Amino acid sequence: MLEKKEQLYEGKAKKVFATNDPEIVIVSYKDDATAFNGVKKGTIVGKGVVNNRMSNYLMEKLEKEGIPTHYVKELNERETAVKKVSIVPLEVIVRNIAAGSLSKRLGLPEGTPMKRTVLEYCYKCDALDDPMVNEYHILAMEYCTEQELKTIADMALKINAYLVKYFASINVELVDFKLEFGKTTDGKIVLADEISPDTCRFWDATTHEKLDKDRFRRDMGGVEDAYKEMMKRVLG
Ligand code: UDP
Repeated sequence: MLEKKEQLYEGKAKKVFATNDPEIVIVSYKDDATAFNGVKKGTIVGKGVVNNRMSNYLMEKLEKEGIPTHYVKELNERETAVKKVSIVPLEVIVRNIAAGSLSKRLGLPEGTPMKRTVLEYCYKCDALDDPMVNEYHILAMEYCTEQELKTIADMALKINAYLVKYFASINVELVDFKLEFGKTTDGKIVLADEISPDTCRFWDATTHEKLDKDRFRRDMGGVEDAYKEMMKRVLG
């Protein structure tokens, strides 16, 4: 029987607790929302439940596709047991359609389809505002090994191929998203963190209405309804 022990860490959107099993931690999803590296703060009522349940559902599907993840077991609507990993300090961004910072950087109107999938990496460091880095920086700084980086890139592209098809089946365009990977105690790279409206851009495929955290970032209103709508489409 898994027992919840002391809190190990509190992040912007989740808390992490130790358990009686040294290989397992419990993540607890909060309704707290932040944007622009914590400059904008708020609450999205029910977000923790949506993100927990959606992320777990998708990780279970990815596991069935042969993608190893940190997911172990959903404990309740906000809490999940996951494998204890050391997080590779990279945000791996996958882009199918131009939006957000890519649109700004390259002067591409939001909604421009990318002719092939774009992968970007940012070094996870709040003090530096998560700077974008390339493969050379990653290897020179030893954020991970060359083999690990290859595994991460291959996994990110496989995850994208699966998720694009899956979301299309519920009439959602997967515009872009952010992944994080961890290393288990036996050195295996697994998908970690979450896949949710906090970390993905979801557009309704027919109306192109935004169904994700951009509604919070951009003060568009209808934030809770967008999260609920995504939960309904994914979990029925
Ligand atoms: N993203 C994220 N966490 C971050 C930065 C980005 O989950 O700290 C996600 C974001 O939700 C979007 C994708 O990564 O789906 C690409 O984000 P972008 O680089 O365009 O940054 P943004 O415009 O969100 O600042």
